[in-house]
Amino acid sequence: MAARLFKGSEYLITEVTKDDVFTPEEFTDEQKQIGETTEQFVLNEVLPRREEIEHQNFNINVDLMKRCGELGLLMIDAPEEYGGLELDKVTSMLAAEKISQAGSFSVTYTAHTGIGTLPLVYYGTPEQKERYLDKLISGEWVAAYCLTEPGSGSDALGASATATLSDDGKHYILNGTKQFITNGGFADLYTIFAKIDKQHFTGFLVERTTEGLSIGPEEKKLGVKGSSTTQVILEDAKVPVENLLGEIGKGHKIAFNVLNVGRFKLGAATTGASKQAIAEALRYSKERKAFGVPISTFGAIGEKFADMAAAIFASESVVYRLAGMIDDRLATIPKDTPNYYDAYQQGIEEYSIECAVAKVFCSEVLADVVDDVLQVYGGYGFTQEYPAEGFYRDERINRIWEGTNEINRLLIPGTILRRAMKGEIPLQKEAMKAFESLMSPDFVELDESVPFAAEKALLVNLKKTFLVLAGAGVQKFMDRIKDEQEILLAAADIAINIFAIESAVLRAEKILPKLSDTRRSAVEAAVKTFTFNATEVIGTAARKAAYYVEEGDTLTMLLAGVRRFTKYDATGLLPAKRVLAEACLEAEKYIF
Ligand SMILES: Cc1cc2nc3c(=O)[nH]c(=O)nc-3n(C[C@H](O)[C@H](O)[C@H](O)COP(=O)(O)OP(=O)(O)OC[C@H]3O[C@@H](n4cnc5c(N)ncnc54)[C@H](O)[C@@H]3O)c2cc1C
Repeated sequence: MAARLFKGSEYLITEVTKDDVFTPEEFTDEQKQIGETTEQFVLNEVLPRREEIEHQNFNINVDLMKRCGELGLLMIDAPEEYGGLELDKVTSMLAAEKISQAGSFSVTYTAHTGIGTLPLVYYGTPEQKERYLDKLISGEWVAAYCLTEPGSGSDALGASATATLSDDGKHYILNGTKQFITNGGFADLYTIFAKIDKQHFTGFLVERTTEGLSIGPEEKKLGVKGSSTTQVILEDAKVPVENLLGEIGKGHKIAFNVLNVGRFKLGAATTGASKQAIAEALRYSKERKAFGVPISTFGAIGEKFADMAAAIFASESVVYRLAGMIDDRLATIPKDTPNYYDAYQQGIEEYSIECAVAKVFCSEVLADVVDDVLQVYGGYGFTQEYPAEGFYRDERINRIWEGTNEINRLLIPGTILRRAMKGEIPLQKEAMKAFESLMSPDFVELDESVPFAAEKALLVNLKKTFLVLAGAGVQKFMDRIKDEQEILLAAADIAINIFAIESAVLRAEKILPKLSDTRRSAVEAAVKTFTFNATEVIGTAARKAAYYVEEGDTLTMLLAGVRRFTKYDATGLLPAKRVLAEACLEAEKYIF
């Protein structure tokens, strides 16, 4: 495990070392075994039934969930005292990554184990857990989470579903419609949010057989067609008072805290999907000939593989670094702490910024990967005969659910600024320091004997870029900065890519001494390729932010600073990409 406990977003103002990050190369045997069990389950039991699942034979999803229960795959996050395994987040992420290769079924699984089951685990009373948890972790029952409504998606707290206490005080009477509910068509237990007396946003556990609860028709979707997405309609649904979840008026805590884990798991799932997609394209490119040679021999194709593999390396590094950070923090909470799950939630919430980073970054890596994968297939990629078309359609939803990527981007600088205002992070002080260094350049001589010296020096400068621009934005707009979305989005892109570069570089540095020469060159190539690409993204975002915030001489000075702080010497980039592409083609899969 990583040693140092970081505050959320602290990476932007402090130096992080390789010993501070957890990497996939450190999986324990037990973690690997759960990963292996999940992978074998997907290969042997899900993929052979993929066609039927895609045609919405939901009996298969339900049966496979029971099978997941038998294999222990539904109890990873559940407490031991209720029969769960209560394993760490690294294991939970590894399972999410492996199950993602099951296509639509992975949506059923992930919604059930994440947003479906976790509200009960974190906020349920002992009686509620006694009643429902065993059914959920055995796969006997499937769970769903009902937050979105036709009139409120991103604005989840704007929900209009209502709950009114019955005259005899024994039931809440729920009315309203929930929209786009995953597992809606066949779930047995729904976590539903409604406002008591039209104002107190509250969670409820609602059984499928509840009088007054009905299910709408299946949505006709672009992708993940083999997952169920329906409305859940409440017409005077009578829910026993014992089924109120958490506290009256505190439903937002449940909704948002569970989403933190959901976002982070989505990072793991999209990483797994990226690995699956690149592997298919690598194999195809070696078989398909054009101009008398396999298309894999073209630099145009090889470069795509290099960019994809490098980005997936970063995506994976982000997910497991964050898993390690969360596990380290959660490990400091003694199990006998009163209100253990409150402290546990706070532990996860500390990293809400990094959870949003993982969600946005990994889902967008997958978006780029499936686009390139389809291109590798040419016209055949556009047909249903090959898997690229399905990858392309299924990917799209990941940028929409668990908070759209716009909402998650806004949350990153928004939360940083809020924490800075509360004095939790010394943003203003660090911004001043970065500004001083912008005014008085110091020329650092790189020590070439240090691994990744150029990338580490770059990271120091990229953090200054973020701080200078955030500082300039706050100075100019003060409190109103929260309404300047275009600036906040640019700041988010800088923060996201800094975390990704740092995760990739520190992982590479940590694993390098144990690698063979060939593997070492591939890792170095991935770092160079990704650092170059991500620094370009940061440079564009930073220039945009500078133009949005300043004008005149100050703008000129900011732009000069951005140019200096985002300078990365990527000498050897082309040979590096060729090494990486070659290694992937030889292995016919993602190699790290
Ligand atoms: C297949 C599928 C499965 C789903 N599963 C579930 C589920 O199980 N449970 C559940 O509760 N929900 C579920 N959802 C709902 C999903 O979480 C919402 O669709 C999502 O949160 C976006 O809400 P919306 O669709 O109402 O879009 P809107 O909120 O209307 O957003 C439309 C656009 O406006 C942007 N926007 C909105 N507000 C702002 C803002 N303040 N600032 C800047 N931009 C903004 C958004 O980023 C987006 O681009 C699912 C959706 C789908 C499609």
